[in-house]
Amino acid sequence: MSATKHDARVRVAQHPLIATKLSILREKTTMPEEFRRNLQEVSMLLLGEAARAWEITTTDVETPLHKCAGHILARPVVLVPILRAGLGMLDGMSRVLPEASVGHIGVYRDEETLRPTTYFCRLPSELSKAHVVLLDPMLATGFSATEAVSLLKKNGASEIQFVCLVACPPGIEQLQSAHADVSIITAAIDPELNEFGYIVPGLGDAGDRYFGTA
Ligand code: URA
Repeated sequence: MSATKHDARVRVAQHPLIATKLSILREKTTMPEEFRRNLQEVSMLLLGEAARAWEITTTDVETPLHKCAGHILARPVVLVPILRAGLGMLDGMSRVLPEASVGHIGVYRDEETLRPTTYFCRLPSELSKAHVVLLDPMLATGFSATEAVSLLKKNGASEIQFVCLVACPPGIEQLQSAHADVSIITAAIDPELNEFGYIVPGLGDAGDRYFGTA
């Protein structure tokens, strides 16, 4: 599906529920209420895909009937949405993982140059010990994601996953050439980026569709 030379670090999540929910999100007649619900739900499923790479340690639990082995996550998790569309993914993921800390990165895309400018960055401390999951539904030019990963690393993060809904080859190339250690988990890789920086076929402006501001 991807034509990049960094395929090993890019995983397209294969799951019937992810595929069907993505189709609902792509459909242009899907209204904001349904769009929100589906983006939250697909994000929960994508978090499950990201979590496959996480370590767990064993612990003792006691059921009403007997003691048995249980599991806990070995490291804390930090979810970091890139504002604004990443918030839609956070809404779903923090329901599955309410104990995760949350950081926020605001990267504004200059509409002419398509280059990123950071306007907000607030991150939890102790990023170095955490699984950090960076969220943005669309990996388009890859500039915002690259900038956000640089900020995370400057703040001590070393274990970073980027989770999106739709990626495209130029965005993957950009992110992986700047940060080859960051794995990308996506529901789809679409073929093209148009001259306005939108993924084609994509799903349009994810933030506008999520917040009803189209
Ligand atoms: N941001 C979006 O919301 N959609 C795209 O297709 C690209 C960037």
